[in-house]
Amino acid sequence: MTKTNHKEPKVNELYAKLKEGVQKVYFSDKWKEILLFQSRFHNYSFNNMMLIYFQCPTATFVAGYTDWQKLGRQVQYKQEGIKILAPSYKIEKDEQTGEKKKKLVGFHQTSVFDVSQTKGAPLPSLTHELTMETATLRDFYETLKAVCPFPVEEKTITNGSKGYFDHLTQSIAVKKGMAALHKCKTLVHEMAHGYLHTNSDKSKEMKEVEAEGTAFVVLSYFGFDTSNYSFPYVAGWNGSAFADHIQKAGDTIQKTAEKLIAEIEKEMSKKSAAA
Ligand SMILES: [Zn+2]
Repeated sequence: MTKTNHKEPKVNELYAKLKEGVQKVYFSDKWKEILLFQSRFHNYSFNNMMLIYFQCPTATFVAGYTDWQKLGRQVQYKQEGIKILAPSYKIEKDEQTGEKKKKLVGFHQTSVFDVSQTKGAPLPSLTHELTMETATLRDFYETLKAVCPFPVEEKTITNGSKGYFDHLTQSIAVKKGMAALHKCKTLVHEMAHGYLHTNSDKSKEMKEVEAEGTAFVVLSYFGFDTSNYSFPYVAGWNGSAFADHIQKAGDTIQKTAEKLIAEIEKEMSKKSAAA
């Protein structure tokens, strides 16, 4: 049995556009700047990453006090550091060769700080918040909220994220004060997380590619362009293997987008019938 679906060709086309856009990001100057920025941070061991996570689960970028100063940022007054373990070395002379060697003798505790605990020069960022604000978009946001099976609340979010899906309460938070286009995009992104990732053991990277890919396709379908944000965002989570996640996420993105588009269209026709 073949199912005919009028949305499929357009959704297919939009997914292809997403893949192409993400590829382009890898060849941009901004991408090089980001890689350079990340390389300035130390590579933390798995144990230290766990220590950071348990003390500050929202941490995005951490560095020591003086490392932040080198980046033009100052750790703010009375901020408590995140405690991690740093290796302690002893310089020893090799008996045979006479060379001086660094020998690991143990670990000592040291402090790092998350970017949210610092102030100063802006960090280079790949993505910029979408700024479009129109009556049509505000209306579309209301339609999305009507379609959304999870409670939606606008909240003050200070850790740099635009929203989140709370798996415990099965609810969505959207960052207060954003333009309508970004609010719409975030809401679809978090709805996708809600639909797809409640009991999922997929990697964080895969989940983000699926959610943002779905948001891009859905918003584009209705004529709203989020590529300036979505392409670099997906590129950032796509991993070292070019196009790997986005290739694997293709099916999920397209199916989730089609489901959401159908629900939105149903809600829109209900609205226009009532008007
Ligand atoms: Zn997400």
